[in-house]
Amino acid sequence: MKSESVPGLAAGVHRGSRAWPGVTGGEWDDWRWQVSNRIASIEQLARVVSLSPAELHGVEECLKTFRVAITPYYASLIDPLDPHCPIRQQAIPTRAEVSQGQDDSLDPLFEDTDSPVPGLTHRYPDRVLFIVTDQCSMYCRHCTRRRMAGQTDHAPTRDQLEARLDYVRRTPDIRDVVLSGGDALLVSDALLDYLLGELRSMPHVEIIRLATRTPVVLPQRITPEFCRMIRKHHPVYVNTHFNHPNELTEEAVAACERLADAGAPLGNQTVLLRGVNDCPHVMRRLMHGLLKARVRPYYLYQCDLSRGIQHFRTPTSRGVEIIEHLRGHTSGLAVPAYCIDGPGGVGKIPVGPEYVLSRSPEYLVLRNYEGAITSYREPPPYVAGGERCETCGRRHEEQPGQGIAAILEGKRTSLEPAEMERRSRRPQAK
Ligand code: SF4
Repeated sequence: MKSESVPGLAAGVHRGSRAWPGVTGGEWDDWRWQVSNRIASIEQLARVVSLSPAELHGVEECLKTFRVAITPYYASLIDPLDPHCPIRQQAIPTRAEVSQGQDDSLDPLFEDTDSPVPGLTHRYPDRVLFIVTDQCSMYCRHCTRRRMAGQTDHAPTRDQLEARLDYVRRTPDIRDVVLSGGDALLVSDALLDYLLGELRSMPHVEIIRLATRTPVVLPQRITPEFCRMIRKHHPVYVNTHFNHPNELTEEAVAACERLADAGAPLGNQTVLLRGVNDCPHVMRRLMHGLLKARVRPYYLYQCDLSRGIQHFRTPTSRGVEIIEHLRGHTSGLAVPAYCIDGPGGVGKIPVGPEYVLSRSPEYLVLRNYEGAITSYREPPPYVAGGERCETCGRRHEEQPGQGIAAILEGKRTSLEPAEMERRSRRPQAK
């Protein structure tokens, strides 16, 4: 791949020339060079940021529990003079990661629980999450899967992968497979080609998604060879993970365009991060930038309850406020679905501003983004539902302490119907 020209740098001088003086353009553009030369120690961190003694101590403390890895490319985007640089905050460990929040857990989304075979999560009826590696090119400080991301930096064994494929093969309800990790693109083209080919040979698998942060942190990975390979297996969707407009560099945009040109529809999943993107104006720039790069904003996630990321969480009201600033004010295409991935494995739950002000059997009263109020007359005939349970005749509010009411009273954090189908797929149920 030819070295990308970068605005502000002279011809022939690539982005890495400053911090990595000896590196050639060819090496810089080689994704395997980027992975092999990741910043993975305190000494190497000093090449890209200046750390005060207190910050240095914080990094040391953090690295006793969590690892660090940053691609030279992503590190080159850090503003060394700005302690609040949004790239820096996503990449450089801090002492805050050592503190544990009241609700923190290793696996808040129950991905390992809803796992009929190791490395595969079957949560929703018709789709599965299929882990192809635990490796990432960079270990994001806000990672929700940090319990496993980077634990071995290896792809699973062939037997482990075959067990996952076999589960998909013998479960005809699955029509959508998300290949993830770690980062799904941190394995070789040959392995991905094999997995995509096997999945494509299963008639019930309609679409395949690749979950990857490489367009953001390792755009060199999106090679012409890789693009040629995925063309053979369409429909293949790519979900990526941009969090800040500063990540939309010329190289990153070009990587997205290569994927789009290869026929892969692109979606983006942003995590709402305190101090990084919890600002309506930053978020609007990000969403507009993504659309220009042919990437559809898909989800805006509330930061999960994973261990050591409490400092990144905002109140959910901030997420609602951000959507309020987007919906109606800009193209609907630029408005992602704001979701909380519910603790306990209940899945993604959309939350957002309220647009329905009131309703009667005849009218729905609505407001728009300007605050203008209108009504919509419901079509007749309409059969009104009762206030009471049709079976036992009791008023619904006369049953305190159960269901959602119990959650609102703080008695429980989640609910699972006893007859929920996915319970039967859990290993302990067998
Ligand atoms: S790329 Fe994804 S899985 Fe890997 S560290 Fe970042 S957030 Fe976690």
